[in-house]
Amino acid sequence: MIINLNKFLSSAEISFNFEDNFIIDDEDFLEKTHLNKAIVFNGDFFKVEDSILLTGIIKYTYKVDCARCLTEFENTIRTKFEAFVVKKQDDDDNESDEIKLVLKDGCVNLDETIKQMIYLSMPMKSVCKADCKGICPTCGVNLNVEKCKCQNNGTDPRFDKLKNLLKD
Ligand SMILES: [Zn+2]
Ligand SMILES: [Zn+2]
Repeated sequence: MIINLNKFLSSAEISFNFEDNFIIDDEDFLEKTHLNKAIVFNGDFFKVEDSILLTGIIKYTYKVDCARCLTEFENTIRTKFEAFVVKKQDDDDNESDEIKLVLKDGCVNLDETIKQMIYLSMPMKSVCKADCKGICPTCGVNLNVEKCKCQNNGTDPRFDKLKNLLKD
């Protein structure tokens, strides 16, 4: 995704909002992350002293197996990041954690930053819904779909104790 900032830079405006759908054109990355090609990017650019601050929000969807019931579902994540748009990359500045985007003919290219942010924000574990019942540890049925006849029916005995406490 390349964003042209020329108009904004030459204007008197101090901020500029940009929102667009963005297609990630990197088969390798898409395969590794199970990401849907289309993502939404929303960015606010602010003029600050001699650089430009970008606050960006990325919304993406990817396929993942639920950590409780093991069923594949589409998970949607919104992640926020900040970056500085600079005129040129400082060589002695590699140690800082700040994300720097270098202006080229008044444009910034966000491809690498967006991919990096997606990688960093993907949760280790996800559940298909907050109240996912998971699978029965005894017979292995998906308790969201069917009930089984096993003794504990998938409920955690610790929760039963808690329920009794709450009754009093
Ligand atoms: Zn689930
Ligand atoms: Zn069971």
